[in-house]
Amino acid sequence: MVLSRLPQPADGPVRTCVGCRGKAAKRELLRVTVGSDAHGQPVVAPDPNGTAPGRGAHLHPTTECYDLAVRRRAFGRALRVTGAGPGLSSAPVGDYVMARETK
Ligand SMILES: [Zn+2]
Repeated sequence: MVLSRLPQPADGPVRTCVGCRGKAAKRELLRVTVGSDAHGQPVVAPDPNGTAPGRGAHLHPTTECYDLAVRRRAFGRALRVTGAGPGLSSAPVGDYVMARETK
């Protein structure tokens, strides 16, 4: 089997990026879920293996799409986080995409 970088209809599930709202193959996107930080506050965390339970959202693993998602407060909406307000932290996701990009 020849591996191709071209997008194909048989590429598998497609998800929408919560940052740029663009559609992409699920495997091109980073899954994020809600976890809790050391203080028990909800925090958006990366789930690169896609194995964390609960509701997930998908994002291109780029600082561009991350910034867009933060500005639109898209994480809280996509993940249905209630009670966290605009202060919902997604710093772990920011750290993750930044580390990826500077590799
Ligand atoms: Zn995107």
